[in-house]
Amino acid sequence: MYRRTVPENPNSPATHPLGATHPLALAPVTGPASSVDGFVRQFLRNLNYERGVPLSASSVNDRYFALAMTVRDYLMARWLEDLRRQRETKPKGVCYLSAEYLLGRQLDNNLLASGLGEIATEAMAQCGIDIDEMRAQEVEPGLGNGGLGRLAACFIDSLATMSVPNVGYGIRYEYGIFRQTFVDGQQVEQPDAWLTLGSPWEFPHPEGARKVAFGGHTETYDDGGVTRSRWVPGWHVQAVPYNYMVPGYLNGRVNTLRLWSAVATDAFDLRIFNSGDYEEAVRAQTFAENISKVLYPEDSTPQGKELRLQQQYFFVAASISDFLATTLGDDDIATLPDRVIFQLNDTHPVIAVPELMRVLVDERHLEWDAAWEITKQCFAYTCHTLLPEALEVWSVDLLGRLLPRHLEIIYRINDDFLDEVRERFGDDEMRIRNMSIISEFPERSVRMAYLATVAGSKVNGVAELHSQLLRDKVLPDFNEFFPGKFTNVTNGITPRRFVRLANPGLSELITEAIGTGWLTDLERLRELESYAENPDFRAAFGEVKAANKRRLNEVLFERDGFEVSDGHMLDVMVKRLHEYKRQMLKVLHIVTQYESITSGRVEAADIQPRTFIFGAKAAPGYAMAKRIIHLVNAVGSVVNADPRVEGRLKVLFPPNYNVTLAERVIPAADLSEQISLAGKEASGTGNMKFALNGALTIGTDDGANVEIRELVGDDNFFLFGMSEPQVEDLWAAGYKPADFYQADDNLRRAMDLIASGAFSDGDKSVFEPIVSNLLYDDRFMVLADYSSYIAAQARVDAAYADTDAWTRSAILNVARCGFFSSDRSMRDYIDRIWHTPPML
Ligand SMILES: *Cc1c(COP(=O)(O)O)cnc(C)c1O
Repeated sequence: MYRRTVPENPNSPATHPLGATHPLALAPVTGPASSVDGFVRQFLRNLNYERGVPLSASSVNDRYFALAMTVRDYLMARWLEDLRRQRETKPKGVCYLSAEYLLGRQLDNNLLASGLGEIATEAMAQCGIDIDEMRAQEVEPGLGNGGLGRLAACFIDSLATMSVPNVGYGIRYEYGIFRQTFVDGQQVEQPDAWLTLGSPWEFPHPEGARKVAFGGHTETYDDGGVTRSRWVPGWHVQAVPYNYMVPGYLNGRVNTLRLWSAVATDAFDLRIFNSGDYEEAVRAQTFAENISKVLYPEDSTPQGKELRLQQQYFFVAASISDFLATTLGDDDIATLPDRVIFQLNDTHPVIAVPELMRVLVDERHLEWDAAWEITKQCFAYTCHTLLPEALEVWSVDLLGRLLPRHLEIIYRINDDFLDEVRERFGDDEMRIRNMSIISEFPERSVRMAYLATVAGSKVNGVAELHSQLLRDKVLPDFNEFFPGKFTNVTNGITPRRFVRLANPGLSELITEAIGTGWLTDLERLRELESYAENPDFRAAFGEVKAANKRRLNEVLFERDGFEVSDGHMLDVMVKRLHEYKRQMLKVLHIVTQYESITSGRVEAADIQPRTFIFGAKAAPGYAMAKRIIHLVNAVGSVVNADPRVEGRLKVLFPPNYNVTLAERVIPAADLSEQISLAGKEASGTGNMKFALNGALTIGTDDGANVEIRELVGDDNFFLFGMSEPQVEDLWAAGYKPADFYQADDNLRRAMDLIASGAFSDGDKSVFEPIVSNLLYDDRFMVLADYSSYIAAQARVDAAYADTDAWTRSAILNVARCGFFSSDRSMRDYIDRIWHTPPML
């Protein structure tokens, strides 16, 4: 369905990707020969001519670069061809605007997409090179915090695989998400210098730089009887694009990811340089280049820092300018909505709305109303949260200083909007205040989610429950005012990376059973349902899981020196550390089990052996999250070393959870922990990765868990905890955690053990803030769900004891979760929001 047709005559100038007229340029742009010999030749050529070294004297990094460049060379003709087609046919495309792309390693992904895996492996072997060593050499580009950034990466993979024209726009952070280390069990952040050895996947285009303005003031002027506004900026920076190939899976498509890097403008330097202050000139350069220096490591709680707003405006201004210059070109600006939809991935890029208005009104001299009609059609907004503290606001003071013209435009948009609200509802001042894009307290500021909602053609949540809560609880006035604007698109994940690459054993088993089509049509996993009843298939499935565990053990031993025990249930909670995700509930379960052994109430021999794996980074400024990390490590040291446990409970916390580690851990997991407080997790995507790799979920009725459970069935999912309405009721009634503490002996004993200093060498003060938070001040109601969680874990133990039934459930999880392919998410965006036809 998404296969493309190859042009009939690749030699004709009309179809030539370069479109050049020189006779030599008329030769087809083809990659190297698709053979082991061809690959070896190109590899050696790259090693010699691009790296300037002979094989005999090459470093691992030289060889990795030459290999990556060779893969690139095979994709290049397709990339050029796609760019040419898009220039010619002018399709409507998707510009995905995202401050984060959590890409993961590229080598294997690009080998898979190009179908070169076997050839490359054999070619490397012939050169005496271990391709695994090449894989290990790649530093993953960690240009995102967690789920939101990984979602963007899955989406651009799916768009390329579905032949939808797309440019992903974002920021080329010089330092991505920090590298997490532990010192005495506490998180210490190290800079992620992912570019130190260079990246073979990027194509810098300094000649394509866009100039981005900041600061200054606005003024009005007379333009032949028309009064216009203009922005007189105070300073500029250059945005230099770096292009990355985004190959579709075996379809010959290559889309583009374009990330912007900040450099000082010549003019800026010169002005200061002329003042004779050399030091100041250098400082100015550093100042400009700071903009793309580092990814803000806050997940869910933005800090509202000026540099962050600079980053946001920097990349969207460059992206809009780039799109207009390189894609719209000289075409009528009124046709813009036929050519592009800018999808806003959360509020980070929302400053693009007033930016497009500024370009249309101030630079292209459109009437305000005409410009607004165009702008409204060109944007759509995805909301990713329900936490009020995560909804971004910018103080009017800061915004006015950095982007004075944009602030004026936002005020005008708001005035017009509130006029419409008044027209409809009369002078309902309460409603007006609630719906205003400008909030007055605690300081006057711009609510970016409201701006996006007013401007966007559509607003979507990321799972059914989340979208419903958005409509009913977060933005009810807007839902009433804009009927039909709100919609849902449940998130998804790319099965290419998270099943095929991460779990080759399972992929082979699936393909043997149902053929290859499932990787681009994931609903076909349904055909596995009948295999759940087949004992041979179950045995093979169990063997794949066991092999994945062995592979994980090797990785954890090599990476962290962990010795992992065989025969344990693997119970995994990997995701950002946040109180709403409730890693503390998991800790209380572990401490409860531990306490029941050490107090002698339960024989160690009667406990189901489990290895608990945590993976989680905490925002560096999030003190409670860091304390919880400390506690997990502290509980691990005590539990793992206590002989009374007889090795039946093991707590492992490999540091620096990232995409590469996710690809190893998830395929090995038996149990997936998705235990957020109902109504707090917008969707989750980790939950989907686990289910599609044959782990069973223990989870609350939250985010996409709801849809997972509906699909896999209650028998194949361990549900516990309050529903969202129950959470609301308990909160409204006045939640008293101490009542739950008093009422449950196990809970009391676990809490008391932590409070006693048992995990902190007797020092009661270390974890006291966690204990008192849970007892007196917990917004996320850990204690209220504790007893239900412990009961569900007992059901997990009972179910795991019947290996055959467990495996059957695991197979049914795989078979029934095809819905969670990001290809399906993309189809939903296309049908409900974008209306972009696939390219032929
Ligand atoms: C999928 C993924 C996430 C998101 O996990 P959730 O459980 O949905 O929060 C975060 N980090 C990495 C590295 C991922 O691959």
